[in-house]
Amino acid sequence: MSRYADFYRQSIDQRDAFWAEQSRLIDWHTPPRQVCDYSNPPFANWFVGGTTNLCHNAVDRHLAQRATQPALVAISTETETERSYTYAELHAEVQRMAAVLQSLGVKKGDRVLIYMPMIAEAAFAMLACVRIGALHSVVFGGFASGSLASRIEDAGPVAVISADAGSRGGKVVPYKPLLDEAIALSSHKPAAVLMVNRGMAPMHLQPGRDHDWTALRAQHLDTTVPCEWVEATHPSYTLYTSGTTGKPKGVQRDTGGYAVALAASMKHIFDAKAGDVYFATSDIGWVVGHSYIIYGPLIAGMTTIMYEGLPTRPDAGVWWSIVEKYQVTHMFSAPTAVRVLKKQDPAYLAKYNVKSLKALWLAGEPLDEPTAQWISNALQVPIIDNYWQTETGWPILTLANGVEPQTARFGSPGKAMYGYGVKLVDEATGEELTAPHQKGVVAIEGPLPPGCMQTVWRDDARFVNTYWKSIPGRLIYSTFDWGIRDADGYHFILGRTDDVINVAGHRLGTREIEESISAHPNIAEVAVVGIADALKGQVAIAFAVARDASGLVDDASRLRLEGEVMKQVDGQLGAVARPARVYFVTVLPKTRSGKLLRRALQAVAERRDPGDLTTMEDPAALQQVRELVGR
Ligand code: AMP
Repeated sequence: MSRYADFYRQSIDQRDAFWAEQSRLIDWHTPPRQVCDYSNPPFANWFVGGTTNLCHNAVDRHLAQRATQPALVAISTETETERSYTYAELHAEVQRMAAVLQSLGVKKGDRVLIYMPMIAEAAFAMLACVRIGALHSVVFGGFASGSLASRIEDAGPVAVISADAGSRGGKVVPYKPLLDEAIALSSHKPAAVLMVNRGMAPMHLQPGRDHDWTALRAQHLDTTVPCEWVEATHPSYTLYTSGTTGKPKGVQRDTGGYAVALAASMKHIFDAKAGDVYFATSDIGWVVGHSYIIYGPLIAGMTTIMYEGLPTRPDAGVWWSIVEKYQVTHMFSAPTAVRVLKKQDPAYLAKYNVKSLKALWLAGEPLDEPTAQWISNALQVPIIDNYWQTETGWPILTLANGVEPQTARFGSPGKAMYGYGVKLVDEATGEELTAPHQKGVVAIEGPLPPGCMQTVWRDDARFVNTYWKSIPGRLIYSTFDWGIRDADGYHFILGRTDDVINVAGHRLGTREIEESISAHPNIAEVAVVGIADALKGQVAIAFAVARDASGLVDDASRLRLEGEVMKQVDGQLGAVARPARVYFVTVLPKTRSGKLLRRALQAVAERRDPGDLTTMEDPAALQQVRELVGR
């Protein structure tokens, strides 16, 4: 057996011994009594009885040996600034933020919502929360007031931390008006709002509720705020993600299991060591940002780089200039970003020395072969696809090069990672498909390994009902992705089984977009599907029925309503969710019992064969779609 195969088998067959060994990678205040309590499946409690703290493991424990090493470098090509913090400086800033949060009444177990651009204060905020045992809930800065309001409503934060503005491609996006609107929309009202003023957009501070970070920070310059030792099972954060229904789910993560899982992934998957430099180009609003901009690299004692800006501004060489300047050893990005760079002049890449790089990891969406090939040739380092989800917190499928160097196969994110009992199962029966090359749903046999979601925030029933299926003798977790596996254990991901679409690596629920569009006064009904796109992987396309179609007489009037619908989505959900096109039809394709034929609609929109249509109510419905997309 190969070294990795052996390692993997151990993780499954001797689960507790395996994870007990991994748990030594972090500091514990009290060592755990029990490795895994799975007495109430599918709820898994990892490292029961242990107490620890994420911030201690990410910051304080490195002070003895690397106080003067850069811990965090925040680079913004939007504001043309670079700010670097050593571990000692990060420690001081996090304590100031923690003291400010305490002065605003934040206590252990409280939620703090973070709605911020990619600035160092966002990292301080996350670390400060976990330092005092509060749960952060980071909302992507690209989301607008409707998305923000539903998250405020669900998380019930005591405090919100935000900034005056973010910036993208030189365009300043003021956050405060969106935040004020979201708080007005939400029935839950946070007691305090802490604003970081970057001097980019005017802000109105509401007396009594809103506070200025700079002013409060000045009152706590020399403060010490000790880490709150929390139970391993104490939630560290919630992070919202889209599913089949319109309401986003709050993925709840623990503390001890997450710290161990990340520490283990830094060693076994990324083959990283303290002092190495990690550059993940994601955003803190996504799970990659949580695990591999903030916690993973810091737990490993690395220098982590946070980046605000586009990959192409001031030019397409900017990321490679960062790699050269900071001697980046580990880089993590998404296929869409690489496709964007591929369209630019390759000379930009040749300008910089990228020899410090050990590998480039890509995740979030399928990695197509031409993209992988191009970047592999350009960088001359291994390109490592990795597949996982907000729910799991760290890769399900990839290559554990720290255990044993393995060769990547184009089109495959690789093998089942240690700890994950990955199965391919029949969608209807849940039965395991064991022969190679059979298409099934990618599933994980319970318990999920450390670091994965504990539950859906405040909704255990939703966790059980959404993800888990009982097959004789065991419970399995569904990823909602189709996959196949070859004879050597390499997996291939074939797309989602549900109504989730993936636009440029951003996971969006089509139902959420439909609900937003339906709120437009002249939209009677709408269906949103994802269609293949050469650059973004997929884009959302909407087919809408107007309440009053009498005005839709020509292209100009249709374009006007299309523009209004797009604006509606921008304002409610944010531009990330904006459909690329809104087509107006008189009827949507439905079955005789009134069920929307989403798959058929998507197939026709992608100019594929829609398959069996015998249950369709009105064949003319798809004909309209065919004509519209064919234009
Ligand atoms: P998120 O929770 O936003 O990280 O999205 C997770 C989903 O993105 C997965 O369920 C997949 O559908 C997709 N995904 C993530 N990584 C990959 C990958 N390497 N290859 C194919 N699909 C991926």
